[in-house]
Order: sequence, then structure tokens, then C-alpha cells
Amino acid sequence: MCLAIPMQVLEIDGMDARCEAKGIERRVSLFLLQHETIEPGDCVVVHVGYAIQKMSPEEAVRPGSCSTRCWPRTHRHKGCAVHELAVCQGLIDQIERVARAQHASTVHAAVVAVGALSGVEPELLQSAFVIARAGTVAAQAQLRVDTLPARVDCPVCGLCAEVPVNRLLCPGCGTWRVRVVGGEELTLMQVELSRAADAMLPAGASA
Ligand SMILES: [Zn+2]
Repeated sequence: MCLAIPMQVLEIDGMDARCEAKGIERRVSLFLLQHETIEPGDCVVVHVGYAIQKMSPEEAVRPGSCSTRCWPRTHRHKGCAVHELAVCQGLIDQIERVARAQHASTVHAAVVAVGALSGVEPELLQSAFVIARAGTVAAQAQLRVDTLPARVDCPVCGLCAEVPVNRLLCPGCGTWRVRVVGGEELTLMQVELSRAADAMLPAGASA
């Protein structure tokens, strides 16, 4: 699994940098870039908490480059997870709201439904989740991704069927005048959590 996220360096403290991408701030280690001169304002490619490559200003601001704009359905950099990182930040916000409402101390898992037309890559979502969950109530949580197929409903022949994402036509009569009824989902389905009181029960205790 190769995942690279372009982030901007905001502040440097020794081997640590405070970096930002799409409003998400994370501590990033500069350990692997000791041979480079990194300064606040520089862009780096971040992989599991380590800056692995300095991006030139040209790369960072090139029109259509991931750090400025990433449109997953048309062009995206190979391995770019900026879109998924933004999605994960939204998921974490939702998970934290659920956890607060339930007075939960720990979130063990979250299940998210991802439609084939949502523009989200499940593998990149998994990796981005590991970054987004850090320092939150979901820091140890597993993300389970349920992928859902594209489905169309045909007003001509009445067929409702699964279709390939690159062929949104009615498989029955061939019309393109179909209604997409599935595949655009991007929904938090379930959160598994435990409350502080549960965690404090001694092992083997019975009610
Ligand atoms: Zn049809």
C-alpha cells in the first residue's frame, strides 16, 4: 500500500513539523528528510507520519495538483489521498459527535458505506483514516468499508439493476435515460464504542 499526502509545513520544532492539508493539522516527523532544508511554507509528501519527499513549489501549485485541487472522478495523482483525508476528517467529526452523545470513552470500529460512484478509493480511505483518527477518541478504531455497486432504475423498461461504473445505461433496453439509485453513498453506518464505566469493570466481573 503506497500512500502519499502532500502537506504544507507550518512550523518546525527539531525533527517535528506541524503540517497542514485541507484544514487538517498533524505532527509529521522530518527524520527521513534530514538531508533536506525544510522551512515553514514548504510542501512535503507525507507517508504514515513521516515526510518522505520535499515537493518543489512548482509541484505544489501546479494547476490540478493534489495540494490545490483534486477531482477524483477525472484526474488524480496516483496514490493521492487528499480527497480521502478530507472525507475521513468528516467521518471523524461524525464519530466524535456520536461518541460524545453516548458518553463513550473509546471507539473500537466504524463502518462506512462507500458507493462505487462516490469517487472515494476504499484503500486510500483506510490509510487516510489512520492519519485522521490520531489524537481523537477514535485513535484505536478500525475502519470497515462496505462498498456498494452502482445501480440504475430504468423508466423505459422498468428494470432496476447493478451496472458497471463506466456504463450507466439500462442493461435491459440500453437507454441512457436512467436514474442512478445506488453507488453515490458515502455514509457512516455504524460506530462501535464503549463507555468509561464499561472499561472500568474488572475482567470476569458479572452483574
Ligand atoms: Zn430499460
